[in-house]
Amino acid sequence: MYLFLRGLLYLIFSKMPELPEVQTTVNGLNRTVKGRKILDVWTDYKSTHKMHKGSVKEPKFFSDFKKQIIGQKIIKAKRRGKNILIQLSNNKTILVHMKMTGYFFYNPSKTAPFVHLDFTLDNQKHLVFSDMRKFAKITLIPTDKLKESLHVMHLGPEPLDKKFTFEIFRERLFKKPKGKIKTVLMDQKIIVGIGNIYSDEILWRASVHPLSTVGAIPEKNLKQIYQAMKETLKKGIDFGGDSMSDYRNIKGEKGKFQDYHQAYRRTGLKCQKPKCRGIIKRIVVGARSAHFCSIHQILFKKS
Ligand SMILES: [Zn+2]
Repeated sequence: MYLFLRGLLYLIFSKMPELPEVQTTVNGLNRTVKGRKILDVWTDYKSTHKMHKGSVKEPKFFSDFKKQIIGQKIIKAKRRGKNILIQLSNNKTILVHMKMTGYFFYNPSKTAPFVHLDFTLDNQKHLVFSDMRKFAKITLIPTDKLKESLHVMHLGPEPLDKKFTFEIFRERLFKKPKGKIKTVLMDQKIIVGIGNIYSDEILWRASVHPLSTVGAIPEKNLKQIYQAMKETLKKGIDFGGDSMSDYRNIKGEKGKFQDYHQAYRRTGLKCQKPKCRGIIKRIVVGARSAHFCSIHQILFKKS
């Protein structure tokens, strides 16, 4: 019971890496392991639960995974939504979703904590995967079947893609006209990569209340959300991601975006928007919390 409660509290207070964190890891992988050959792989993930079938947590799957990746070269790493895609020379791709506590660590100087997967590379260095809560998903997919795979087929467009125009953004949001803007922004089927932290920061910047109904938000304000989304996600990448929770980059270092939060986890603090005299408030939307300024963030609702 104690462990269950602790797990539950952890789920409530922890957060998943979002687009900027995943992109930071992908950039780090391309700087460190691109072009390297995998000589060996080890794991102590072990589960017979049906939920973990088809992932490295399933011992039978892992032994096949090992056979398929040993001797292969890492062509490059890519990102799709919150998934890391490591393309190998044999037309296979390792798909990794870091979930709550997972992160890659290249060549740790001493033993990194909570390592559950370890790749030995041809430069005698190691790429390890730390995962305290063991929630991560790691599997192997033929590269040309990736788009149709269950892991990515339902995903919406990439918000930082140059082709992702305001018109497409509006069209995506309007798939849920009655939805609350924060919830819709976080819906991976609508747009990928945005979670609890960045949605709060985007809406603070756009001056829109998180409970606003999508269909009631005027065009001008939708444009502000679109702009704020691009700027906030780019800023997240520039700061090396957010490490308010467990996220670490490939060197085991924290990102810095948490030092620049304007809304997320600033409950009770003064709003930082120039001339605004508001205080940041926290409300619970579904199982998630939303942080916002009740003065400058406008609530749009159909009357
Ligand atoms: Zn304010």
